Amino acid sequence: MDKKTNFWQAPGNGKGFDSFLGDNSKMNNRTIGILSYIKEKSLTAGYVGEDEYKEEIVQYLSNNFNADKNDSLKTHFYKPALFYGFIHRNKNHDLSLSIEGNLFLNHYKKENYKECLKLVVNQLDNTTYPNSATEKVKNLKLFPFRILFKLLLENKTIPVKFISENLVHITEYEDVLEYEKNKSISRIESFEINSTKFQKFNTWVVNSLVDLNILEVIGTNLFVRDEMIEHIKVLYEKVNFNDMFFTATVCEVNNSVAEKRVKRDPSLINNAKTRDKFLCSVNHTHATFISKGVNYVEGHHVIPMFQQKNYNFKLDDVNNIVSLCPNCHREIHSSDNKMDILNKLYQLNISFMQNNSIGLYDLYKMYQCG
Ligand SMILES: [Zn+2]
Ligand SMILES: [Zn+2]
Repeated sequence: MDKKTNFWQAPGNGKGFDSFLGDNSKMNNRTIGILSYIKEKSLTAGYVGEDEYKEEIVQYLSNNFNADKNDSLKTHFYKPALFYGFIHRNKNHDLSLSIEGNLFLNHYKKENYKECLKLVVNQLDNTTYPNSATEKVKNLKLFPFRILFKLLLENKTIPVKFISENLVHITEYEDVLEYEKNKSISRIESFEINSTKFQKFNTWVVNSLVDLNILEVIGTNLFVRDEMIEHIKVLYEKVNFNDMFFTATVCEVNNSVAEKRVKRDPSLINNAKTRDKFLCSVNHTHATFISKGVNYVEGHHVIPMFQQKNYNFKLDDVNNIVSLCPNCHREIHSSDNKMDILNKLYQLNISFMQNNSIGLYDLYKMYQCG
């Protein structure tokens, strides 16, 4: 195993947040500042590799958000926000605000800080290794924060020492099982634990969550704060540790996690199919076959159920379900270009979408179409 990179990395150079929201602290300002910049400049902030853009962004952060104009800011200004999933970086290295980044900023401006904290947790829930905001990690295919939050939920608390020395070396399900059994992981004990780079996940990432008032340290132990425990429960109570390591695609894992979190009403799918006369919503002439006496179609939630954690309205709603032929259904889950099919499905459900303030562009983002 390659000891150099095969551990949980932290993004960029410094914390994403260094105080409670609303405190105007330095790193909070930097993170809020970069989200505001990207929002103001519409979809893209330009090619982040180019110095002129970096200069412009550094100038903006310094003018509006009191940031120090230094080289570290120039290189790492966006990385924590990328790690939290509040911005996306596409193939051309353009940065854009994610729908959650936009929701976060809206809540922040209205001082709905509790909603902001839920969004941070929701976004960390999506964070994986490999991760585009960190150094390359070898052979890791896991959801670090699902593991952290589930461990905190099951054990009520975990030692801070465990976070900085052991947690970042977890690579597989067996490691977690061993911790649950023995409260230690023998394979991991042998790592060189004094190297400071192994501490970055704790100092930059976990401590950001402590500073934000999501987690708290009492003595030498880490806890979830009382205000956040209900939300953490909703997310992780019914999800198992083996849902936190993936061999399948992230989408497939998220679909199965969404099923465990939110009970669906199967009659809604039947209602939608009957409404659609058992024909594919993309095109009525799409051929399928007869099954149980009717044309075979499959129900699909247009706003994916995995998004439920971010919204207060119910996604398991007949107006959010369409009937698709098997080919179109595969296409929407697996195609490289989902825009045409999403344009169509958005129009079909436009009143449900608009009543709940979901734009077409939000839908593209949910399906990661650029
Ligand atoms: Zn589907
Ligand atoms: Zn079809």
